[in-house]
Amino acid sequence: MPVSLPLPTSSYSEWERRVLQDLWDADEEHARWAVEYITAHEIRFRRASLFPGTGAAWQIDYEHTLCGLPYRMTNEILLCDDPTLERATLLSGLVHETVHHAQGSRFIPRAITLNAELTAWRVEFQVYHHLTGQWPGDPQVAQTLLSLTPGLHIWHPRNLHAVRKAMKTYSPDYLAGALAPFFDIPFYPQSREWIFRDMATALERLNAPRFLRTLVRCWAKVWGVTV
Ligand SMILES: [Zn+2]
Repeated sequence: MPVSLPLPTSSYSEWERRVLQDLWDADEEHARWAVEYITAHEIRFRRASLFPGTGAAWQIDYEHTLCGLPYRMTNEILLCDDPTLERATLLSGLVHETVHHAQGSRFIPRAITLNAELTAWRVEFQVYHHLTGQWPGDPQVAQTLLSLTPGLHIWHPRNLHAVRKAMKTYSPDYLAGALAPFFDIPFYPQSREWIFRDMATALERLNAPRFLRTLVRCWAKVWGVTV
């Protein structure tokens, strides 16, 4: 007997409903958690053209204030508008962003740390593997990411290097991957210079928006690093 979705999804478009149904039918714990989270929070998702190398993203808007900075997570996730995108990539990408939404809906910086990225990648890879029987990209990358559980030990320089190397191998153009340790900086006293230089080089190469490059330069300055 088919198991139906946990909550009514009548406010969703036909396409959104189909995606949610596919995720639910995947019968995988993270995929089902994502369906429950998305529907419970009435998060919408749609296809959009994104920054190159970005498979999916969540949005921020500016209705609340946090430490003097106005922000709010929107109830919308954007998925890369590429018709050739494999279904498993789209579904696992949606789960990845849902993890970030859950991490950041109260406190955005939590979603932009290396541990947060690692958590989202591991879940995404597991959903993808469940759907296709294969790991996305180089299996060595999956092996590295899945062998490193998120936690305080990710602040060890050896693990920092391993995670960043795996992310860069899998997706050299991954913008969030380039920025991932942004809010972890206090915990990397020995690696700060290297992180900021690496970040600045990546943003330059990706031709990232100027405000992001300026932000990294200013943040580096706060920590006594010139990039
Ligand atoms: Zn991410």
